[in-house]
Amino acid sequence: MDATQKLNFLISNKNLDSDLRHIAEKVRADQRITFEEGVMLYEKGEVSYLGVLANYIRERKHGNHTYFNRNFHIEPTNVCVYDCKFCSYSRMIKEREEGWEMDVDAMMDVVKKYDNEPVTEVHITGGVVPKQNLAFYAEFFKRCKEHRPELHIKGLTPVEYYYIFKKAKLSHYEGMKYLKECGLDSMPGGGAEIFHPEIREKIAHDKCTADQWLDIHGQAHKLGMHTNATMLYGHIEEFWHRVDHMERLRQLQDKTSGFQTFIPLKFRNKDNQMEHVSEVSVIEDLRNYAIARIYLDNFSHIKAYWAMISRETAQLSLAYGVDDIDGTLDDTTKIYSMAGAEEQIPAMSTKELVQLIKNVGRHPIERDTLYNVVTDYSDYVFEDDTKKKYYSLPVINS
Ligand code: SF4
Repeated sequence: MDATQKLNFLISNKNLDSDLRHIAEKVRADQRITFEEGVMLYEKGEVSYLGVLANYIRERKHGNHTYFNRNFHIEPTNVCVYDCKFCSYSRMIKEREEGWEMDVDAMMDVVKKYDNEPVTEVHITGGVVPKQNLAFYAEFFKRCKEHRPELHIKGLTPVEYYYIFKKAKLSHYEGMKYLKECGLDSMPGGGAEIFHPEIREKIAHDKCTADQWLDIHGQAHKLGMHTNATMLYGHIEEFWHRVDHMERLRQLQDKTSGFQTFIPLKFRNKDNQMEHVSEVSVIEDLRNYAIARIYLDNFSHIKAYWAMISRETAQLSLAYGVDDIDGTLDDTTKIYSMAGAEEQIPAMSTKELVQLIKNVGRHPIERDTLYNVVTDYSDYVFEDDTKKKYYSLPVINS
């Protein structure tokens, strides 16, 4: 059965709860679901039901295509002036000897390491320290563009920008405009956590608020930049807080159309101040991806970070609304491994990523940051697969 037949079959099931049938009919008719219906999906939707709806939407939007990119990260520092309770990565200013702080030359050395590699994106994120200010990032963005103009710079989040712009006495719009002129191309989705103040004040009390986060993205969209959005789920929030989070994103997207991708981030409980909070199950991960796909009707892509949830769960997620599993990474990020992710050395070759996607019957597409197709790998044969292989057999009784 294809995705449409499965949805029709589900709707025709007489035993299906009438509210869930109504939501399934709305999905089939391409109608938006309400806030209350979003909460209902979390409360009543079993994973198999949610998978049918989410996969229908995923295939309606993207068919079998599954995206990845070739990228590397730079994490300029893991020292941070903020104190997020879930963070396993940062060292506070008073513990800065335990962390790292790069200068612009060191960041350029990382960029130069990829000079002969076909990477399309550098993703920059990390902690917040006074030294890495507006002038610091302006210099890095300029030098990076001078060195390799075609490399897309996806850099920092509103958490850093709010701090930097405030220190520089610039409005969000002025700050974003200036950094765009210096070479910044787009913004990743981090720092969103959970927007509702009831939760945000408990887990991330001292960094930018939801309104400030949303405003900085809105200003970037006004300047023609594309950005992503995340949600940190599976800790002390309730289901309605997740829906509230997605509702705020959906409303901004209705106004600006600047978001490309939504990325649910699973809370991990290793080495942080929330170690006592249990992690949610893989089933809950899949339910959450699926509900995100159903709720965020105006977002084009839903991404799963394979480095955070494991390769196997990333494969599964492709049947629950996800159409993008992020990039090759080349072991350049510590954020997930330090939080206890299964992948302690997060790196995959292009061939491995392609195989991972093909193994679950999907169609691998290497994209650039803006989802332009770089290579369609559906019928691609890697060079080393075409070489004749000779195997030496063990010699017995020689
Ligand atoms: S999550 Fe980000 S802002 Fe919060 S402490 Fe960690 S590095 Fe700093």
